[in-house]
Amino acid sequence: MTKVIMVACPTCHKQTEFSPNNRWRPFCSERCKLIDLGEWSNEDKFIPGQSITEDEDKPDSWNF
Ligand SMILES: [Zn+2]
Repeated sequence: MTKVIMVACPTCHKQTEFSPNNRWRPFCSERCKLIDLGEWSNEDKFIPGQSITEDEDKPDSWNF
């Protein structure tokens, strides 16, 4: 009576198993979960113009 439920990964839309076997459900992988949460952007690149804080004490290198 085990029915495997398949869902589309919200990030890459790949069919993935929605079950306790899949710890990243409803995502297909840890990577897709992190991408959805936006955590990947913190490590890979900084996007100019989207500073989170209004810090007046910016380094000179931030002046584009
Ligand atoms: Zn995915």
